[in-house]
Amino acid sequence: MRIGIVGAGGRMGQMLVREVAATPGATLAGGTERPGSALLGRELGVLAGIDPLGVKVADDPAALFRAADVVIDFTSPAATVSHAKLSAETGTALVVGTTGLSADDQAAISTAAARVPVVQAANFSLGVNLLAGLVRKVAATLGDDWDIEIVEMHHRHKVDAPSGTALALGQAAAAGRGVDLQAMKDTVRDGHTGARQPGRIGFATLRGGDVVGDHTVLFAAEGERLELTHKAASRAIFARGAVRAALWTAGKAPGLYGMDDVLGL
Ligand code: NAD
Repeated sequence: MRIGIVGAGGRMGQMLVREVAATPGATLAGGTERPGSALLGRELGVLAGIDPLGVKVADDPAALFRAADVVIDFTSPAATVSHAKLSAETGTALVVGTTGLSADDQAAISTAAARVPVVQAANFSLGVNLLAGLVRKVAATLGDDWDIEIVEMHHRHKVDAPSGTALALGQAAAAGRGVDLQAMKDTVRDGHTGARQPGRIGFATLRGGDVVGDHTVLFAAEGERLELTHKAASRAIFARGAVRAALWTAGKAPGLYGMDDVLGL
């Protein structure tokens, strides 16, 4: 399977290059960076800290989509939208890890998914996908006298908040309760907020240092508290899941898939 990586010079991009190089049955079709990037022309393997792979960082995503069977995208929302269009035009499958997408950005991905298989996940780790299933189950079991709060911490470079994973966990909790997250979420509390409203799903965002990604979902009632936590110690878990998702797209019908499909959860 020929795998292309857009944003190949990024934190996740470099991790993905290493993972593709180490995965039997996968070959690196190429990697791109944004136009004007200082990384253009650099050897992809060397940039990722491994042996040379004979491929250089390029800035022609259309050529990469033509050369690849599947492209993995952990970039930025604007770049992901243009990559989704290229994916539909070239018939190349797409794996999307970019978070912080607006409703319009998401619509572009759904449009591409009508033409090609697209796997999209806010978090490609096995543990977080299992956690989402647990959260859904617990939320369905407990009444709304149990307050749900989601706390996340990430490194100081992260640009969107709450994290895509925190929102996905909120979505799982809302689905368990049979409510709409959009209508029930509290993402900002500041000043005289008044007492907590029953049934709301609260989010708290921490940023600092080099934290790869910590998420806790708290269920708090009078007299007891249940906390479900996942901690990512390395970005390798996301890269492993994304490459697994890329291999999984072979022979799949067009559609928008999630990690639960890939993992058979
Ligand atoms: P990063 O800033 O280190 O990397 C992004 C890279 O994309 C940069 O090198 C940037 O130059 C490049 N880029 C931007 N526009 C481009 C374009 N038009 N063409 C080619 N390359 C382009 O960020 P990161 O930490 O690697 O995270 C990237 C995204 O992935 C973020 O949205 C982050 O939240 C998300 N993420 C998702 C998961 C998951 O499991 N789904 C895990 C980690 C990070």
